Amino acid sequence: MVFHIDVDAFFASVEQLRDPRLRGRPVAVGSGVIASCSYEARARGLANGMPLHQALRLCPDLVVLEGRHEIYRCFTAAIWEICRRYAPAMETFLDEAFCDFSGTEWIYPDFLDLGRRIRREVRDEVGLAVTVGIASNRMMSKIAAKSVKPDGLRLIPRGAEEAELLPLPIEKLPGMGPKTSALFRDMNVRTVREFREIPIETLVAMLGKVGAALHERARGRDTRVVREDEVPKSISRETTLHAPTADRAELDGLMCYLVDRAMRALRQLGLRVRTIRVSIRYSDWVQEERSASIAPTGIDEEVLPAARRMMWELYTRRVTLRHLGVVLSNFRIEEPQGNLFEDGKLKRLHEAVDRIRDKYGDGAVILGRAIELLGKLENDSYGYVLRTPSLTK
Ligand SMILES: [Mg+2]
Repeated sequence: MVFHIDVDAFFASVEQLRDPRLRGRPVAVGSGVIASCSYEARARGLANGMPLHQALRLCPDLVVLEGRHEIYRCFTAAIWEICRRYAPAMETFLDEAFCDFSGTEWIYPDFLDLGRRIRREVRDEVGLAVTVGIASNRMMSKIAAKSVKPDGLRLIPRGAEEAELLPLPIEKLPGMGPKTSALFRDMNVRTVREFREIPIETLVAMLGKVGAALHERARGRDTRVVREDEVPKSISRETTLHAPTADRAELDGLMCYLVDRAMRALRQLGLRVRTIRVSIRYSDWVQEERSASIAPTGIDEEVLPAARRMMWELYTRRVTLRHLGVVLSNFRIEEPQGNLFEDGKLKRLHEAVDRIRDKYGDGAVILGRAIELLGKLENDSYGYVLRTPSLTK
């Protein structure tokens, strides 16, 4: 599923947050035209893009501010940092972000709940309201968000896309600009339902590629993927144990499993890791951690011994453990050809395992000592269920 996260009345909200005297008052940011206005201003008929002289005529007590973009950027940076705690891939545009959660259903069984959590953390930590729309693709997630702005949360379930779109006016279709929609209005086409009557050949003849894209969008399809342009700072996998344990085989198995999961994420991103950090937490909440650096690698067998050694160095008290984590960081981008002689065999093995898992799910192959865990942790077709979310940030 894709999350569309949109800051409500962004510039104006930041100004109201920074100066409490502005709260509850109509505020507009911009020069010449409104770049952003508060919901109090919108209630008076103001909108983004409206010339300021017209806005002041409609709303004489409007507070007009020039805007300070360096400050606004700090606020979005803080919000996107919160989203990155959860989202494996993310794309941001000014005050909007698309977060791609595809394939994370096994970590986040309830996406609405995750949406609530993100909204709460943004409000508590940054002080701003964001609207979250959740759906099977980018376009639908944005439509979901728009339908509940401001300060809203909505999930359009997979399969409900078409029903959502049919009654909408054609202007709401992403990619339908004012000129294009005027063209269809002239043809007496007003809703998406009516738009869908137009054959694709006609749309392509009229508008070329745009016509073909609109044909797809009117059916709720949007194949653009969310791109993560940045290399993540770290990849972590951690878990809280169902029952605290001191069993060496079980802990070894769990570490093998966590490393396996983290390394798989690393290989998917085409990275090699240099620094490994291991953390343990005892049942009495005492926490210890340690890190080590190794030669850059993408292979479990070169990471696991260091991870296991650190775990046993850390685990010195006669108290059971309830939490175990591994964090990979200090990444190198893998050379495209790779070195066949260096680590060819193991690398090919792991690539083969990754391919099987892509096809049959993470539970299809269990590596090494993780087999010890069978029956001890809940297992499903997605692999063992980690009890805390994994983070790639
Ligand atoms: Mg916004």
